[in-house]
Amino acid sequence: MAGVKRIVLLGAPGSGKGTQAALLADALGIPAISTGEMLRAAVTAGSELGARVKNIMNAGDLVDDATMADVIRDRLSQGDAVDGFVLDGYPRTMAQAETLASILDAAQQSLDLVIQVEVPEQVLVGRALDRRREDDTEEVMKNRLAVYEEKTTPLVDHYRELELLHRVDGDQSIQEVAAAVLETVGVMV
Ligand code: ADP
Repeated sequence: MAGVKRIVLLGAPGSGKGTQAALLADALGIPAISTGEMLRAAVTAGSELGARVKNIMNAGDLVDDATMADVIRDRLSQGDAVDGFVLDGYPRTMAQAETLASILDAAQQSLDLVIQVEVPEQVLVGRALDRRREDDTEEVMKNRLAVYEEKTTPLVDHYRELELLHRVDGDQSIQEVAAAVLETVGVMV
């Protein structure tokens, strides 16, 4: 699958998709774009956007689609995204998937591949408890998982219908998952 460059990683909170997005982007020499990281940076910087999203993120809820459309449109218009990108954390809703498709469409581009990092729910819960920050209550973690189930899992079917979806077993070591991801995009390790 030579030439694959515009990639979305899908996965629940705690699936390890952020780690895999960074490894894959390095291997391909394209940027990993994490909307979660961008929003956290905005919160840390104390920007207007950060102030707006802080409480929403702390509750484990989703930032509204219109705000996220501005964030992703700005980011994808930057020069380093011209040759491709690995998206981590976007899209998270069907409306976001449509926004992404229309942004790419306007640039005569399209997605090449969507990789779902699959991890059983009981493993996700265990990982969440391990990495829990002090301000992260169990209730917030459960909410993140529930929001993922409700809003983001429909994207799996959507991308399957578009024949873009590939799944990798995320219940393995970081290196094993990375190897499976690279195999999926046809890059030798
Ligand atoms: P996780 O890996 O736990 O899912 P992320 O780092 O991807 O976390 O995102 C952290 C938080 O940032 C989310 O819980 C949500 O509040 C917000 N966020 C990130 N990306 C999006 C998005 N595409 N749409 C709405 N909210 C988002």
